[in-house]
Amino acid sequence: MARLVRMRNQFSLFQSPLDLAHGYWKQVVKKGDIVVDATCGNGHDTLLLANLVGSAGSIIACDVQSQAVQSTTEYLSANLQKSDTPKIEFALGCHSRFPEQINLGSVRLVVYNLGYLPRGDKALITKTETTLKSLSHAMEIVMPGGVISISCYPGHEGGDKEEQAIISFAESLSKEVWSCCYHRWLNRKNSPTLILLQKGLLA
Ligand code: SAH
Repeated sequence: MARLVRMRNQFSLFQSPLDLAHGYWKQVVKKGDIVVDATCGNGHDTLLLANLVGSAGSIIACDVQSQAVQSTTEYLSANLQKSDTPKIEFALGCHSRFPEQINLGSVRLVVYNLGYLPRGDKALITKTETTLKSLSHAMEIVMPGGVISISCYPGHEGGDKEEQAIISFAESLSKEVWSCCYHRWLNRKNSPTLILLQKGLLA
């Protein structure tokens, strides 16, 4: 914690790829939007998303572990003002398929925070194959101008291959339809990275 405070005092622009991701989310998400948290974990990202979409918005929060859904529910009820609470739906299960009722082209932002649940079972980690399947579905539900944000952990076992597979996939997308970008810390070895995919407004 003390280290984090020290970092915040030293580097005011951003300290981590998550800070970077959050800055982009704030730019793109509007009150009343529908957003998807594809890996809700302990709910830190879900809380930020809830504040961005506000009471008129909706969040679909997915996780494969019931412990994560429980943890997110508790974290939101402890930290979210009742008057700001959006419609929140939990999808317990693999994110390779999002719930049927999400209309294609209806979602402003889909976020992934890959890897394993902090303080949870490190064996329950996101996997390249299901992550790529999920991304393909995310690309269909995202609206024109919407964004897919993927925080990767190449320092974790298997996380480097997962990140590389996502980069290769993103590199293959048409530049007329998708704008794909990669952020990496140059002087912090194995630190998390951020991949952003934005769907064009005319898509
Ligand atoms: N965003 C969270 C941290 C996410 S950690 C926070 O702010 O706290 C990564 C999460 O992905 C873990 O909770 C893990 O259970 C989940 N996960 C792993 N594989 C998954 C899959 N195939 N589908 C959905 N969630 C998955």
